[in-house]
Amino acid sequence: MSSDENPFENLQEQIDDAASYLPSSVNEDVLTRLKNPERVLEANLTVDMDDGGLETFTAYRSQFNGDRGPYKGGIRYHPGVTRDEVKALSGWMVYKCAVVDIPYGGGKGGIVVDPSEYSADELERLTRSFAKELRPIIGEDQDIPAPDVNTGQREMNWIKNTYETLENTTEPGVITGKSIANGGSEGRVEATGRSVMLAAREVFDYLGKDIEDATVAVQGYGNAGSIAARLLADLGATVVAVSDSSGGIHDADGLDPRAVKEFKNETGTVSDYEGADAITNEDLLTLDVDLLVPAALENAIDGDLARDVRADAIVEAANGPLTPDADDVLQERDVTVVPDILANAGGVTVSYFEWVQNRQRFHWGEERVNDELETVIVDAFDDLVDAKESLDLPSFRVAAYVVGIRRVVDAYTGNGNWP
Ligand code: NAD
Repeated sequence: MSSDENPFENLQEQIDDAASYLPSSVNEDVLTRLKNPERVLEANLTVDMDDGGLETFTAYRSQFNGDRGPYKGGIRYHPGVTRDEVKALSGWMVYKCAVVDIPYGGGKGGIVVDPSEYSADELERLTRSFAKELRPIIGEDQDIPAPDVNTGQREMNWIKNTYETLENTTEPGVITGKSIANGGSEGRVEATGRSVMLAAREVFDYLGKDIEDATVAVQGYGNAGSIAARLLADLGATVVAVSDSSGGIHDADGLDPRAVKEFKNETGTVSDYEGADAITNEDLLTLDVDLLVPAALENAIDGDLARDVRADAIVEAANGPLTPDADDVLQERDVTVVPDILANAGGVTVSYFEWVQNRQRFHWGEERVNDELETVIVDAFDDLVDAKESLDLPSFRVAAYVVGIRRVVDAYTGNGNWP
């Protein structure tokens, strides 16, 4: 993994690249607006530790663009979180929400922490401390956080409860990704993996190939990767390799994604799964498969590694897993890439459904959630195909940014530049 790439510079390069293909040129200052966050909160959180001491953590919330609606995006707990990473992730959210045409802008947050080193009580105090800092800038019509890497229903419930207690209100729509008992939506946990599966199915159909016959490798076996693997296997695809941060496993006859997940739940890792061969993450990314699903973190594949990729298609479950150099190399090599801002948009789309249900105080069944999600992802994929073909664009990534930028610019122009 090339960690020296700056994801924020990558985002800016992706926007510049796409803007050059727009049929009418974008004013330089509007382009600057499209490439930079409106504001970034940086907070230092002083938290009580179980041993009686104190520890300080740095946290960020970037509100990138609110032209199409309230800021929306997850909160990540990871030791590698940086201000620029959070800015990049918040920008990707803007274009993701625009591509699937849900009425949100983009935001993202993160705390520099390795949660595996802290107790549940310490993580609760840390989360509530961050929620207190976020309170003045979030709200169901202002900014709506959600889970991301190493956060889930538990953290979302704590943030909702802290916000509601401090505001003396009931406002479940202030955050999404909550547990069902606390106002969460059916289908939310599976939503990101489900959109990855749908995007893979649609692109194989577009390429005239059968997903049922495809071999698949998945890098990263957390929420997004493990569920994508399971749903792809349910379609009939053969998942031949998966990995996590401790390494990978390979079985040419196909792995059982449910059994691998159970094994990971028990042991904490996919490594040593019985009957499979051990492989490195690099081996996995360069396996000769029909479909590669990077579902770990950004910059998993750089330009050098991209030369060795042997998959026919890549569907990005993670945010920003390919560097711009990798994108160029893969385009030259005719590898079809379905970009993150469409492929993993299931998470934010079902978050949107959760917010709609919260505001209506109404609960949808899982089938309705999954059906509505399918409609959103299939329509968005069709919009990308239209843009790609009508404007003769070089890739689905460029098409996604062209569609997204147009929608954001239209909203900005319609709103007017005031004050
Ligand atoms: P997660 O914490 O549940 O899983 C991450 C997985 O990646 C873990 O299995 C971890 O071991 C693995 N990993 C970390 N570093 C690795 C490495 N170097 N090589 C191989 N595996 C590695 O996180 P998640 O929620 O599944 O998120 C994964 C990606 O998907 C992130 O980029 C996230 O932003 C994106 N995403 C997630 C959602 C969501 O709803 N969960 C929505 C949109 C995008």
